Amino acid sequence: MYCRNLLLQPFVMKKHGYYMTHHKHNQCKWFPVCPMKFYFEKGKIEKSWIQQYCRGDWEACVRYQKEEAGIYHPDNMMPDGHINTNLK
Ligand code: SF4
Repeated sequence: MYCRNLLLQPFVMKKHGYYMTHHKHNQCKWFPVCPMKFYFEKGKIEKSWIQQYCRGDWEACVRYQKEEAGIYHPDNMMPDGHINTNLK
């Protein structure tokens, strides 16, 4: 842990643990700025994409993986990695 004060460590760890737990059960950290959110709100993609990836297993999302690795990916690339040519 990053906390050097031994007396504070359990508190910090608990807080950190809570944060991670909360984060894990919430949604992908990229969701607020992800094109998939935009397309979903415009009614252009099915909700199941959001449920399966953005609010589910986002580490399995190819967009997420590429974002984490700093690798370019087009806006119309779906979470499973296929290019949706209907999206502009
Ligand atoms: S599409 Fe992938 S990167 Fe975008 S918010 Fe959903 S899980 Fe995250």
